[in-house]
Amino acid sequence: MLTIGVLGLQGAVREHIQSIEACGAAGKVIKRVEELETVDGLIIPGGESTTMRRLMDTYQFIEPIKAFAAQGKPIFGTCAGLIMLAKHIEDREDAHLGLLNVSVARNSFGRQVDSFEADVEVKGLDVPFTGVFIRAPHIISADDSVEIMAKYDGRIVMAKENNILGCSFHPELTDDHRLTKLFVEMVKSYKTKQAV
Ligand code: GLN
Repeated sequence: MLTIGVLGLQGAVREHIQSIEACGAAGKVIKRVEELETVDGLIIPGGESTTMRRLMDTYQFIEPIKAFAAQGKPIFGTCAGLIMLAKHIEDREDAHLGLLNVSVARNSFGRQVDSFEADVEVKGLDVPFTGVFIRAPHIISADDSVEIMAKYDGRIVMAKENNILGCSFHPELTDDHRLTKLFVEMVKSYKTKQAV
């Protein structure tokens, strides 16, 4: 059985757990660093990135999450989670985790429309995915090593680099579990490689 953690410091945690379980894996809320050892993959949920950073510092999560990624374990960041993963954040000196070679801008889709839903064509899915965007970031630029998985309105909203996956929207807020499934498959192939 695969166990996937959801960083539970802040944000949309419960919905991710439900989506993981709908995909046939076990979901575990991670509130303490030691708990990272008990999971095969990690989701960093949406929320508010500066608040999440403060909590990550308080509970000393930055270095252990980097070490988790360095072992090849998959990490999926959604919305604020994508911001946490990015190597560069517009208008900010330092990154948070800096694990995904992209540059992101926060709150990208206009002030009047704080949140909206839109059909997003995702690489590998034959039917578009309904993206729930809530004060969502977007990827301004990505290194060549990064695979662009989706664009919306000409902007990159989903990307993957080796074991790191990030998207601008909230896949856990729909009943469509295909993106969680995609991540579960990444975790599964990591585990299979370990077993060989
Ligand atoms: N705007 C938030 C931030 O900058 C992200 C919003 C979200 O995760 N829904 O952190």
